[in-house]
Amino acid sequence: MSLPATHLSAPSPSTSTRSGSLLSAPDFLHAITELTSGSALDAPELVQIIATARADGELRETLCQMASDLRDRIYGRRVFFRGLIEFSNYCANDCFYCGIRAGNNTVNRYRLSLEDILSSCQAGYELGYRTFVLQSGEDPYFTDDRMVAIIQEIHHRYPDCAITLSIGEKDRASYQRFFDAGANRYLLRHESATPEHYAMLHPSELDLLNRKRCLYDLMDIGYQTGAGFMVGPPGQTAEHLANDLIFLRELQPHMVGIGPFLPASNTPFATEPAGSVEDTLIMVALTRLTLPAALIPATTALGSLDHKGREKGLKAGANVVMPNLTPTINRKDYSLYDGKICTGDEAAECRVCIEGRIRSVGFDIDLSRGDHLTYNP
Ligand code: SAH
Repeated sequence: MSLPATHLSAPSPSTSTRSGSLLSAPDFLHAITELTSGSALDAPELVQIIATARADGELRETLCQMASDLRDRIYGRRVFFRGLIEFSNYCANDCFYCGIRAGNNTVNRYRLSLEDILSSCQAGYELGYRTFVLQSGEDPYFTDDRMVAIIQEIHHRYPDCAITLSIGEKDRASYQRFFDAGANRYLLRHESATPEHYAMLHPSELDLLNRKRCLYDLMDIGYQTGAGFMVGPPGQTAEHLANDLIFLRELQPHMVGIGPFLPASNTPFATEPAGSVEDTLIMVALTRLTLPAALIPATTALGSLDHKGREKGLKAGANVVMPNLTPTINRKDYSLYDGKICTGDEAAECRVCIEGRIRSVGFDIDLSRGDHLTYNP
């Protein structure tokens, strides 16, 4: 698609696009309609859409409404629940943004035992959850054998539940073993699809090509796979966000996690500004238009930045929430960023609170496994 240059309005000082041009309202509507109908917009076109939605609150609302309507047409006004178990905050990696990075020696490190993990699952099962998400830092203690034992036991006890892993980069054979043991889904945010920007967020041992290789392996093995990125980390431009959308279009993941960057104490980015709610909503909405059937969480980070953030995420096209099942005693130590919400609540309180929030904005809760539309068991 080419956007007619004659309709471009004056550049706004509040945006930082290299092209510097914003779209008129009719051109913006035309562009997002094209996106919805599956047109492969190129990076400069996506940059213009992002810049225009940033500069114009009314057009941003329209974009979010379109994304919300699209979600309604595909999944209805249902929000899927995933019970999140943060089972270890040990991490071998040193991502510059992350509060539990290896180099942060102020973190009180913990690991849950198999027994603790299973009692978290049991608490979640009793609350009605049929998906468990096991997330951790890259903790070498949890060898493949140990992970397989955990997955098999959960699968054995809760055969009606989906098991989602979020434990970082592994080789293909490990992903295959976890899958064969009963894991169904895997979350691995790509973090940034632009190599130069990826390198600004990670130490040189970590490399975008390997992260992408992991994602393609996960898709190929048959996992329902989640990619994703933060909005507003240091150095991020509208071009980078456009590249993230293009990468999502190539990969066609089943899930996409998008949350604002929030600074974490005792990290290299501790004093950097947080990402914005508005920019996060724009990216949630554009992701919905790009991948109409994606499962997109209204993230805890968005709820931590704004007390109505998760509700706003749902109104911009998200359709998943991930209430926390981690034992309350460990919650505060899984601090990816400062100011994380729900660190003091019992699992049951989280359930009631989130349910109220969902209903308050006109959605129903859905406690089924909530598989992607294309999933065939
Ligand atoms: N070790 C796993 C899980 C990482 S934590 C893995 O590598 O996939 C899950 C996600 O939290 C990360 O992918 C990152 O996008 C997000 N995150 C980490 N630090 C953050 C911060 N300071 N602000 C917002 N999100 C953050």
